[in-house]
Amino acid sequence: MTAPLIDPFARAITYLRVSVTDRCDFRCVYCMSENMTFLPKRELLTLEELDRMCSTFIGLGVEKLRITGGEPLVRRGIMTFFDGMKRHLDAGTLKELTLTTNGSQLEKYASALYDAGVRRVNVSLDTLDEGKFADVTRWGRLPQVLRGIDAAQAAGLRVKINAVALKGFNEPELPQITEWCASRDIDLTWIEVMPMGDIGNEDRIDQYWSLKDVRAKYAEHYTVTDLAENTGGPARYVRLKETGQKIGFITPLSHNFCESCNRVRLTCTGEIYLCLGQEDRADLRAPLRAHPNDNAPLEEAIRAAINLKPKGHDFDYSRQTASGQMPRHMSHTGG
Ligand code: SAM
Ligand code: SF4
Repeated sequence: MTAPLIDPFARAITYLRVSVTDRCDFRCVYCMSENMTFLPKRELLTLEELDRMCSTFIGLGVEKLRITGGEPLVRRGIMTFFDGMKRHLDAGTLKELTLTTNGSQLEKYASALYDAGVRRVNVSLDTLDEGKFADVTRWGRLPQVLRGIDAAQAAGLRVKINAVALKGFNEPELPQITEWCASRDIDLTWIEVMPMGDIGNEDRIDQYWSLKDVRAKYAEHYTVTDLAENTGGPARYVRLKETGQKIGFITPLSHNFCESCNRVRLTCTGEIYLCLGQEDRADLRAPLRAHPNDNAPLEEAIRAAINLKPKGHDFDYSRQTASGQMPRHMSHTGG
């Protein structure tokens, strides 16, 4: 039996988020600049390498895989990868295979994802207004995403909406978004904007709408009860009495979840990042490529990397500057 991955702070690493591409068919204003330069193809892990990498992590005790990007569903041939991961679900070693998507390709892939064993999908959607959707995503079209969500639900996938809280933007829409989700039995989580990567002319402080204020906004419209449950992840939850909904809040800028952090991230180039808000990382592509028939060097490199996992991160907006700013884009490490 292989020893599980335990970091220097005694946290068991059981959750891997994998960015399968840095490319995307949208250009969300908080995530990318309009003119992005993407990586040359040879830098990316091939689908076979992604399979081998993920399978190795699963062999070391990772039980949950979340596939992300960029937009994971624009990676050519990505269903081959999902189909391949099904064998680990069938074997019981992988407990959950899921993804975060902008929804643009869900209409096409929802059934195939279900067949590959995916049961839940996070769809990022910040507004239900067609004009505002086009503004915030630059290249996205709302009806396409809504059709994708319909297809996901029809295929039997449980949908969760992740909405980035943007001051003055989706703030007035909070009741509509909430009730739309309630009427469709969709879970809803709000995410605070994080200082990731160069996004052109947008000002992060201008975009920042603290989740404390989002919660206060809920209290203007609903009876809000804080829930004690802690799922081990960065979300905190409240219950709305009027709709019965549980609403999540992801506050990456607070440190409330670092001590229970069980996750690491793999970039599309095969680097492992130990914390979303720190630069600690290691290259896993070199040991993978150098030893095509021997997994031991890769396993050793993974263990060495886990030993670098920091205690927590340093984001801080409190001085009205985005300190702890990360040079890399979210689409590189995967959100
Ligand atoms: N393209 C997919 C999508 O949009 O769901 C997956 C990748 S995207 C980088 C993952 C999540 O990160 C999305 O929910 C997106 O809204 C969020 N995100 C991107 N940039 C962010 C930022 N600067 N702060 C907070 N969340 C961000
Ligand atoms: Fe693309 Fe997702 Fe980033 Fe939007 S948030 S630009 S959909 S990767």
